[in-house]
Amino acid sequence: MTELLSGGCLCGAVRYKLKPGFRMKPYACHCTDCQRRTGSAFSSHMLVMLADIELTGETDVGEFVQPSGVRSRIVGCAKCRARIYATNDKRPDMASLRWGTLDNAHQMNPEAHLWVKSKQPWITIPDDVPALETQPDDDAGWMKLLAPDLR
Ligand SMILES: [Zn+2]
Ligand SMILES: [Zn+2]
Repeated sequence: MTELLSGGCLCGAVRYKLKPGFRMKPYACHCTDCQRRTGSAFSSHMLVMLADIELTGETDVGEFVQPSGVRSRIVGCAKCRARIYATNDKRPDMASLRWGTLDNAHQMNPEAHLWVKSKQPWITIPDDVPALETQPDDDAGWMKLLAPDLR
């Protein structure tokens, strides 16, 4: 899945193109931080290159310092406050796209579930999708789980 994709916020003031390039597979994160940040049961992430996001419209940024000390910033629409992507100090070249904002999100599925130890009890994870109690320990683990299939 390396084609040009497009997406945007709720009110339409922010639109973006995700240019073809390196992108990891989409996943769902059930950690308690994601639950609080979204006000929902999990959040939908896809790691992409920050430089591949071509965004128009006025944005604003929310900041949060994770317990590890890593500062994360989440960028969204300044008008409707829908969140589009997050970055953090640890991997400054990459962005974690909230893939629910993609126009074709309905054609995508999470290809892994992370932090299932804190998932809400009413969510049932399909048997054929990898589910981790927490998250991969290191970059190699992330690559193994979510690296794009090379065709
Ligand atoms: Zn908006
Ligand atoms: Zn999370």
